[in-house]
Amino acid sequence: MAYIGGQPEPGCLFCRVLADPAKDEENFVLFRPAGALVMLNRFPYNSGHLLIAPIRHTGELAELAADEVGALMSALQRMLTILGEVVTPDGFNLGANLGRTAGAGIPDHVHFHVVPRWNGDTNFMPVLAETKVINEHLMATAAKLRAALAAG
Ligand SMILES: [Zn+2]
Repeated sequence: MAYIGGQPEPGCLFCRVLADPAKDEENFVLFRPAGALVMLNRFPYNSGHLLIAPIRHTGELAELAADEVGALMSALQRMLTILGEVVTPDGFNLGANLGRTAGAGIPDHVHFHVVPRWNGDTNFMPVLAETKVINEHLMATAAKLRAALAAG
């Protein structure tokens, strides 16, 4: 897959983003609840495609403690509500790819994908092939979701 918006940086994406709150805007971070990180996927399958990761750097979901799982699930529930209000999907796909073989792009740091789905939708990446269009789209989606989060 061609990387959009520059070369991939070394190290773990989530740890890099977590360590640099000053760049939340450009990293499309939406929400930093206790114990979790919520950001838009730069390579979205659909509008509002989120990544939700625990703070701890581990690729093993089974290694997370109950409070860490609780924080992840709470963030996930909150974002389902927010996405439901803001992008009004007909359904969601939720999932985690555990291990490179299973399709994980970042196998060393567990994360869930939340993908809003609409009746009859198709992967919109071929439609929004231009980097500029995708970035503008992501910025607009991030702004709407941040506003909804701020409103409670
Ligand atoms: Zn990490």
